[in-house]
Formats: sequence, C-alpha cells, structure tokens
Amino acid sequence: MATPLSAAAALAAFKAEGIKVQEYGNWRTHNRNHKGKWGPLNGVMIHHTVSSADASSVRLCYNGHSSLPGPLCHGVGRNDGVLALVGWGRANHAGSGDDDVLAAVIAERDLPADNEANTDGNARFYGLEIVNNGDNKDTYPVAQYETAVRFAAALCRKHGWNEKSVIGHKEWQPGKIDPRGPIVGHGSFTMAKFRADVKACLAQPAGKWSLSGSKPAPSKPKPRGREDFEWLAIHAYMPELRYGDEDWYVGWLQRNLNRLVDPNIKVTGTYDDATAKAVHQFYAEELDYKTTTGGKVFGADGWRRVLSMAKDSKGTLA
Ligand SMILES: [Zn+2]
Repeated sequence: MATPLSAAAALAAFKAEGIKVQEYGNWRTHNRNHKGKWGPLNGVMIHHTVSSADASSVRLCYNGHSSLPGPLCHGVGRNDGVLALVGWGRANHAGSGDDDVLAAVIAERDLPADNEANTDGNARFYGLEIVNNGDNKDTYPVAQYETAVRFAAALCRKHGWNEKSVIGHKEWQPGKIDPRGPIVGHGSFTMAKFRADVKACLAQPAGKWSLSGSKPAPSKPKPRGREDFEWLAIHAYMPELRYGDEDWYVGWLQRNLNRLVDPNIKVTGTYDDATAKAVHQFYAEELDYKTTTGGKVFGADGWRRVLSMAKDSKGTLA
C-alpha cells in the first residue's frame, strides 16, 4: 500500500531506469481524480492497446473516447521503445476486478483466478498500455518490451515492491486477454515471463538491465526484394516531395503515413490535399514542428523520422 508518486518523482524514476520519455500534453495534471479515488496504490497493471500506430495510440490514450474519457493509462509503450506519458492520477484503464486478486497483489503472493469484478482497479494500479494489435500475431519489438519491464520496475523500485506487484489486465478482470503476443526473438509475452524480467531488472541497479544482456537477439535477415530496394532508394536519396508531385515515392510515403500516424488517406501516388494534411500532422506529432506550408513539402527531416520509426518498430514496410 502506498501513496502515489508525484509526477516529477515518477518521471525521474523512469529516466533513472534508462527509459526514453515523451511528455505528452499536460500529462502531469491530466487525470480522472474528479471522478473517484487514486490511491492507496498497490501495483502496476499491463495492457495492450489493440492498435498499431504509435502517434494515434498515444493521442487516443490521452483523450479517450466518448464512452471512456481519457486518460486511459499513465504510460503508453510505443513500438519504437519510447514511453509516452499521457496522464498522472486516476485513469480509466483497470475497470472493476477481483478483490481476491487485489489481496494477493497486496501480499505479493501468487494470484488466484480472476472470477469477480467487484473492486475499483483504477484507484489501485498504475497502468501501462503497450501499443500492440493484441491478435497474438503482432510482435513486440525488443525495445518496446524492455521499456515495459523498466516502467514496471521503476515503480516497484520506488515503492519497495517486488515483481508480484505487477499484473496483467487479464489477471484482474474476467474476460480480458491483455497483454499477449510474440516478443521479437524472445517467445511469448506471458505475465510469468514479464514478472521474471521485472525481478531480474530489480536485482540490478536502476538503468543496468536489458533483455539482450540475457539472450542475444537473432541477426537481421539480409535485405532483398522490391520493398528493400525501395527502402534503400529512399535512404540514399530522400527526395524532397512537393504538393502535386506524382511518383512512387509519394505512394510509399502515403502508405507509411497511414501506418505511422493513421490519417487514413487514399494511397494514390499523388501529393494531394489529404497527403498535405497528413504530412502537417506527422511533423506536428513526430517532430514537434508546425509546417509553414500546411504540409505541402516533405523533406529529409521527415524522411529520416519515417525511416527510423519504420525500422525501429516492426522492421517491415507497409
Ligand atoms: Zn487492458
């Protein structure tokens, strides 16, 4: 049982653990404290978002939607390994769960099956949403998984908790399945594995643990095929694209904007109004930069960000 950490103390703890942090909006004061209690806190809860693009997932977790207002968690674990902080205080992530599970978390003993929904979890748990489709096929890049472990470990370390204070949403609320799916090169995301990794992280000083330290990552396959050729061409050339341009570079950009910031534009190969709007959004969200052209120019800075995001997430191209 613990008094919630302040936003500043939590931020310092995340950074000490080696996490790269994105501070989104007014996250420090963004919460649902006007709707109910936050604290005393007893543990950390892990979720997957059922979505795939980082920027739109972060935005959704901050804002929520009409039937479930945000914040929907405290941290969002992006595919690129960055932790986006979207709220601090009560958040809509845990819903009602099993009081027997809460008792086990408080005592840090093995969990019973969750078969009741009689206890307010939003008052009791820090929440992390990991960006993943949740279809058991979408993979967790190593950097993303490591950030999730470090997020949980940072909070446990600060409160003096052990790994048994960390649970999955599926262990809390009957009917939930999150988190699940394959970790790149490291088998399935189970809560048993996750807790073992939190334990290993806590056994070391903050900032020292890594997954690759315990098992080498598989070597990258050699580039081949049309997609890889396009990838390399963009890397080498990074052409400045302008409104009205028509070529495959534009189509490639459109496909990847859909994938990375989710504007849902038509892939036409023509730099049209919808593309300009999406480019403007991409610069604002990913480069913190307001374009003066309304997104009608896409240059090398944009390409570099697109390429790093594509490479750092699934390693495949849209
Ligand atoms: Zn969940």
